[in-house]
Amino acid sequence: MFEHTQLKSFNKSTSDSFHQQKNFIKKVLAGRISQCPQCKQNLTINLSHLDEPSTIRCAKKCTDIELDCS
Ligand SMILES: [Zn+2]
Repeated sequence: MFEHTQLKSFNKSTSDSFHQQKNFIKKVLAGRISQCPQCKQNLTINLSHLDEPSTIRCAKKCTDIELDCS
């Protein structure tokens, strides 16, 4: 019972941060955010080429997101 509750709350927080990340990606791609929220360095958007996924990264890599575009 306890383990089950723990798992549920874990899933919820994962899903919350997933949605937060999607919102963040949207804002970056829309040009509304151009700096890393943590280090305030400029974010770099690398669009995918060949087999590599598109990424959003800052210089210090505290923001390092792979875009799951499909
Ligand atoms: Zn950063």
